[in-house]
Amino acid sequence: MRIARFAHQSGMSFGVIEGESGAGQEAWTVAEIDGHPFGQIAFTGQRWAMGDVRLVAPILPSKVVCVGRNYAAHAAELGNEVPKEPLLFLKPSTSIIGPGDAIRLPVQSKRVEHEAELAVVIGVPGARMTSREDAMKSVFGYTVANDVTARDLQRSDGQWTRAKGFDSFCPLGPWIDTTLDPADLRVTATVDGEVKQDGRTSQFIFDIATLIAYVSSVMTLLPGDVLLTGTPAGVGPIEAGQKVTVAVDGLGELTNPVVSHDQ
Ligand code: ZN
Repeated sequence: MRIARFAHQSGMSFGVIEGESGAGQEAWTVAEIDGHPFGQIAFTGQRWAMGDVRLVAPILPSKVVCVGRNYAAHAAELGNEVPKEPLLFLKPSTSIIGPGDAIRLPVQSKRVEHEAELAVVIGVPGARMTSREDAMKSVFGYTVANDVTARDLQRSDGQWTRAKGFDSFCPLGPWIDTTLDPADLRVTATVDGEVKQDGRTSQFIFDIATLIAYVSSVMTLLPGDVLLTGTPAGVGPIEAGQKVTVAVDGLGELTNPVVSHDQ
């Protein structure tokens, strides 16, 4: 099942996308959900053509928990060792934007980079999930993320709150897929049509069950919370006027234009 969040003429709703994933999106419809999509879904009975709605970020989480250096080749390209335990950091919920929204380059940074990532969306509250089975049962679904990073500030600040936390630095979307198998998916970033990152989730140093168990030993995960699983090698700069697309097998594409701070 593909769950989207969308703006329509009378507000903002969650919905279930209907239509063959291979077919053109113009043939798809969205069945509006009454309230949120967690637990038993109730429908309003309203149905929209995809062309008549605008997809927004598929979820507004209480927190975005991220993992650094979860692909060995990416750790190496930035001159870092592979960590012995997952390396966690947070992005604020205010950094989230949706498909098509602009990534705004902050005036404080001279080097902003893309990071293509598979995002996990949590569906049920969970703390101290020690078994891999419980950890995976807490997953609601998967979406695509771009962990936009001010690389110069990440280095100069010594910790990552500012570098990772600017408004617009967490594009998410286009929708959440609740049935995908995340074990071996291709993850790419393309800037103006040129492929820059091209990895597979089978290259994770810590897999999703391990990450969820680790995070939930620190903080309770709530329905809607988002876990970013790290980025493959090939990170690089984005500049005003460019378009960056992150794609994950089976999840579609997340494209965002890049604009300067004064636009
Ligand atoms: Zn990242």
